[in-house]
This record gives sequence, C-alpha cells and structure tokens, in this order.
Amino acid sequence: QEIAIGGENVSAERTLILVKPDGVARGLSGTILARVEAKGYSLVDLKLVHATREILEAHYAGHVGKPFYEPLVEFMLSGPVLAAVFEGERVIEGFRSLAGSTEPTTAAPGTIRGDLGRDWGLKVQQNLVHGSDSPESAEKEISIWFS
Ligand code: GDP
Ligand code: MG
Repeated sequence: QEIAIGGENVSAERTLILVKPDGVARGLSGTILARVEAKGYSLVDLKLVHATREILEAHYAGHVGKPFYEPLVEFMLSGPVLAAVFEGERVIEGFRSLAGSTEPTTAAPGTIRGDLGRDWGLKVQQNLVHGSDSPESAEKEISIWFS
C-alpha cells in the first residue's frame, strides 16, 4: 500500500463523518478523529456545529416515518456535532467498518462503537458516529453539512 503524503491518488473518495452529540459530550472527538486518521484516511474539512432541524431533516430524509426518527432528530439537536470530511480509497466502506454495527452494545470490539459505546437507557441512537453509506449519500451529506 502506497502512502501518499500530502494528498491522495485519483481513485480517492470522500465521506461525511459525524461525531454525534454523545461523542462530543463524552470528550471522544479527538479519540475518534485519531482512530480515523490512524487507519490512514486524510482529514479534508472539519467543523463543530450545532445542527438545525432543517439540516437533520435533509440528512435523515431516508429515515422519515421510522419509529426512531423523531428521537434521533431530538438527540442530534441535543448538543454540538463534529462534522468531518475524510478522504481515501474506499473510505466510505472503510469508515463504516471502523465504526462498527449500529447497536453499540453488540458492535464488535475493535470498532469505534464497540470499544467506546454501549446502550444508555436503551437509546440505540447514541452510537457516537455517523458515516455515509454510499458515494451518492456522501456527496449529498457533504453538501448538507458543508454548503
Ligand atoms: P447507521 O447507518 O449504522 O448509522 O444506522 P441507520 O442508518 O440504520 O440509522 C441511523 C441512526 O438512527 C443510527 O446510527 C442510530 O443513531 C439511529 N437508530 C437506528 N436504528 C435505531 C433503533 O432501532 N432505535 C433507535 N433509538 N435509534 C436507532
Ligand atoms: Mg445509515
């Protein structure tokens, strides 16, 4: 594997990563960013943002109508979120693998959710991170958070 210093090669893709309010409140922002960087992805944009309902309605449009939608939006409004764009070959899949499965209690050890998360009062939404799930979602989500 080639290590590109100061830039990625032409096949690099980008993803939108969020450290959710639980991660920021627990002081895990730096740890989480460090784990993504340590895997070899490059940070290309970063900001701390208190999301608006408008941003979250756009970001979670695919989940409208699900039972967890409203609690999820309320949770995401409960404190600041760290929004980051990372770049690298297959970073979308690579970050989702690093993040672990959705439910933090049972996410595999070695993953961000598995190592750092658990259920707090059965609130599955408090799973520390978000990562785009496809190139189409990544493009849409980067434009929502970094317009
Ligand atoms: P992800 O891609 O692993 O983040 O999971 P999804 O796209 O399926 O869901 C989006 C987010 O909604 C998750 O990261 C959780 O924060 C939350 N969520 C998903 N499923 C549930 C659930 O069954 N209950 C609750 N409370 N939250 C959920
Ligand atoms: Mg998802």
